[in-house]
Order: sequence, then C-alpha cells, then structure tokens
Amino acid sequence: MDNSECRAYRKNFSRFLQGKLEGKDRRQLVRHVENCAECREELRIQYLLQEGMFRLEHGGTFDINSDFERMLVDVQKKIRQEKRRALFYRILMIAFLGITYYFLGIGIVTY
Ligand SMILES: [Zn+2]
Repeated sequence: MDNSECRAYRKNFSRFLQGKLEGKDRRQLVRHVENCAECREELRIQYLLQEGMFRLEHGGTFDINSDFERMLVDVQKKIRQEKRRALFYRILMIAFLGITYYFLGIGIVTY
C-alpha cells in the first residue's frame, strides 16, 4: 500500500518522532502505522536513525528496536488518555445540561 495516503502520513513522521504532532493528526498517524506494515517499517527506520544519532552522541543504551515498540505503545497510551478525557468532558457537559433542564423543569412546575 504505497499510495498518496501513505505519502501524506510519511511527511509527518519526523514531526511525530520529535513529539510535535498532536491531537487528530497523531491519532490518525498511529492508527495508520498500526495497519500499514510498510509505513510502520519506514517509521521504525526513521526512529532508528534519529535515536541512533542521538545515542551515539550522548552514549545511551542500544536496544533501539524494542524502544521503538515501547515508544509506539506510550503514544497509544497517551491517545487513549486524551480520548478518555474528551469523553469525561462530554459526560460532564451532558450531566450539566441535564441538571440545568431538571431545575428549569422544577421551576416551570412550581411557578
Ligand atoms: Zn502506509
């Protein structure tokens, strides 16, 4: 699957690896990488290059392949947290509206 969709995601890889991609863009990129083996491989290579250079300079550990998987899992966790937070606010909003209508209802009944 090497189509324009893939190319669009790949353009965002370096921003994603720098942690600069957020919200919907990041969500969509991660979902795509989960389902597209070629893009996942491409992202892994970019990650290896970027992290490898950094670790050569700063002397870190070199189990980068498993770090890549861990990094993806971390991002997926963050995305789930964001979704939960969004859901929480939606529920809060609905509860607030419900309470408002409830009291408006009481107000109408007692008048
Ligand atoms: Zn792809």
